[in-house]
Amino acid sequence: MPKTIPVANELTKPFWDAINEKRLVLQHCDDCGKLQYPIRPKCWQCGSEHLGWREVEGKGHILETMVVHDTRVVRRKGDVPFNVSVVSLDEDPTINFLANLPGTPAHEAPQGAAVEILYEEMEPGTFIHDWRIVS
Ligand SMILES: [Zn+2]
Repeated sequence: MPKTIPVANELTKPFWDAINEKRLVLQHCDDCGKLQYPIRPKCWQCGSEHLGWREVEGKGHILETMVVHDTRVVRRKGDVPFNVSVVSLDEDPTINFLANLPGTPAHEAPQGAAVEILYEEMEPGTFIHDWRIVS
């Protein structure tokens, strides 16, 4: 599946370094204790800039799911139709990820299904994360 390899910047580098080690780390606010994703320079809850990183278990559930039949992303045109699901993290259900659910045919992603993170090697040593249904 021709997905894009992300380019890490200073802010997101710890996240992508961990993904390359097959670990999921999220920002953690030292002031209010909230986990945060997507990665931002400040805490979205309390505005604090005192953010660290915390490893979390890559387990979640499908909150919502849809199927993409047409895409403007040229490199994904050969993949349609494909799933785009919103995954909520079990450790903090307010944290959401988008998932393509590799291995699950389009239209067969059940809402509420348990998922776990997976790491796809895009080129040697470079991984991206996705989620798969736990059977
Ligand atoms: Zn905070």
